[in-house]
Amino acid sequence: TCGFVAIVGRPNVGKSTLMNRILGQKISITSRRPQTTRHQVLGIKTEGDAQAIFVDTPGIHILGKDRNKAINRFMNQAAVQALRDVDCVVFLVDRTRWTEEDQIVLDRLANVEAPVILAVNKVDRLQDKATLLPWLAELGNKREFAAVVPIAAQHGTNVPELEAEIDKHL
Ligand code: GDP
Ligand code: MG
Repeated sequence: TCGFVAIVGRPNVGKSTLMNRILGQKISITSRRPQTTRHQVLGIKTEGDAQAIFVDTPGIHILGKDRNKAINRFMNQAAVQALRDVDCVVFLVDRTRWTEEDQIVLDRLANVEAPVILAVNKVDRLQDKATLLPWLAELGNKREFAAVVPIAAQHGTNVPELEAEIDKHL
């Protein structure tokens, strides 16, 4: 079997870090600076005779004074195109931070037919872990998600559980 997985989310939520963690090697560029990933980077995870192809989408940048910059228009287009013909989407957010940009990414997923898994990243940075459960429930009301999984991509925490959820759709 072979499946296609898109990782989407606003800049800096940890998309490249997650992809590198899943693939176990440095294929995508990560940086503290947003907009490091300017092109789609493909990675292939092979397990037995099963393969999953991952796309680390460029961030979706449509807010602020740079919204009409050619590079941002290009990146938005590339991010949206990555959602066509995928088997599964991983929508990545950062802890309990929900921004206007997260909402824009979520809106872009409205017409996506593939199952969308919500992954809440950087939980290692949560000041108060008790805030996580009610937050996960609140996120779950924003749309129908195939699963909601808290992770820390940088440390690999709970990433196998996320991969298991992805594998269900491949
Ligand atoms: P992208 O723009 O969505 O591709 O985000 P990156 O993968 O480039 O990550 C942005 C920043 O968040 C980098 O400094 C990462 O090291 C950091 N980061 C990613 N995952 C985690 C995590 O699980 N915990 C913490 N504390 N930092 C993370
Ligand atoms: Mg990136």
